[in-house]
Amino acid sequence: MMAAGNTAKAAIRIGYGWDSHEFKSGIPLKIGGVEIPHPQGLGGHSDGDVLLHALTDALLGALAAPDIGTLFSPSDSRWKGADSVLFLEEALRRVREAGYRIVNVDSTLILAHPKIVPHAPAIREHLSKLLGIGGEDIGIKAKTPEGMGTENAAIAHAVVLLGKASSARKGKFSTKAPAA
Ligand SMILES: [Zn+2]
Repeated sequence: MMAAGNTAKAAIRIGYGWDSHEFKSGIPLKIGGVEIPHPQGLGGHSDGDVLLHALTDALLGALAAPDIGTLFSPSDSRWKGADSVLFLEEALRRVREAGYRIVNVDSTLILAHPKIVPHAPAIREHLSKLLGIGGEDIGIKAKTPEGMGTENAAIAHAVVLLGKASSARKGKFSTKAPAA
């Protein structure tokens, strides 16, 4: 078996995350850390933020680290009703510790309601602050679940690209031509 901790050598690493939660009445709807006005929210052990969970798993996956359910077990009462930003921050801490930074992220939400497009700028701005990258490096797409029969659920897919923190900076800002 490959050592999962031996991740420091690759210049770039890709990560993928997926999550789903069921709509429930009487709770706030949070997507990407932004509260969206809607009669129903997403149920779950934490605040049910499907996009933050998918992003967290994508970051952890890029490091070949344990996934969100392993690090923050749903059977642990500490995470009941937890703000999902906590989970994302732990993944970001691990990214920094491994010597990487986020190059860009992309995501797709699949849900019948509410419409995400009007809220996408607020979600992008919030994610930009949380992730420490520019809004131009954050993809947010939304689709309705045509023919999937998942009208009562919200689904999120996310991919992230990590680059080495130091070499990536050098590559971007160096004005010197590389040695032949
Ligand atoms: Zn989740």
